[in-house]
Amino acid sequence: MLKVKNLKKYFEINQGFFDKEKKYIKAVDDISFELKKGETLAIVGESGCGKSTTGKTILRLHEKTSGDVIFNGIHIHDISKEELRQLRPKMQMIFQDPFSSLNPRMNIEKIIGEALLEHKLVSTNEIKDKVLEVANSCGLSSYHLQKKPSEFSGGQRQRIGIARALALNPELIVCDEPVSALDVSIQSQIINLLMESQEKYNLSYLFISHDLSVVKHIANRVAVMYLGSMVEIAPKDELYKNPVHPYTKALLSAIPIPDPTIKKDRIILKGDIPSPSNPPNGCKFHTRCPYSMKVCKEIAPTYKSIGDNHLVACHLV
Ligand code: SF4
Repeated sequence: MLKVKNLKKYFEINQGFFDKEKKYIKAVDDISFELKKGETLAIVGESGCGKSTTGKTILRLHEKTSGDVIFNGIHIHDISKEELRQLRPKMQMIFQDPFSSLNPRMNIEKIIGEALLEHKLVSTNEIKDKVLEVANSCGLSSYHLQKKPSEFSGGQRQRIGIARALALNPELIVCDEPVSALDVSIQSQIINLLMESQEKYNLSYLFISHDLSVVKHIANRVAVMYLGSMVEIAPKDELYKNPVHPYTKALLSAIPIPDPTIKKDRIILKGDIPSPSNPPNGCKFHTRCPYSMKVCKEIAPTYKSIGDNHLVACHLV
């Protein structure tokens, strides 16, 4: 249902008066993948690797620099603003910070119902029933509907954000770090709600997260991003069992194990993530990779298949 082909999103940097050459932050730098109906693809990586920009560019909240985003056969970046507006209900987003994404002056009934009326998906007579039905399915009760966002906890606000997205009968939801601002005890409730909703409505999720232990519960496949590029993509069980890219191995080694008797060798990466405005030549990870070779500094690795739908971009393969 979703094809992303060679997608790039560069942001121009404001230069000084005398700088003639344009410079760009290469937030998303030539990524390709597909997402099937009812599937969850997790995109993981450190902060600043381009995960959120990928999600927003797919939904055309950012205009692309180049490449294609094809949703149910429609080239999202080539349609008119009006065609995009009509398509919006089918492609929704759940944000990391539910508080800042909910209008503090509206009550919950209005927040959930606003887009339903805007897109004329229900009549004014039916709106109350529809909002209550969706709110109930997200664990909210009728007495919650007249309250404002400030009266809710973080977990409840995220339920409201999910209800607002589900009300529009979407097919694709980009979940941008939906549980990272929540307490660990609440995270599993929200993950369960997302999984139940997926099964009920046959939803596809692009689940953006920096937390591989959260992703393990919800994803069918996992894509690992580093500095705007996808370095490894594989079915979840395969990636957790057989990580190949040195960056993926380092990320997985940082997952805590809830058993003090098991000793885990954590891979500590040297240095900081380089600036996306001036990424290293060759393999972008070579400045931090413990296995870096001469070829890594000169030639960017391309994807190679190692079977089981497992693709890796590394010269070691
Ligand atoms: Fe490390 Fe080279 Fe592989 Fe990049 S291509 S991850 S630098 S071994």
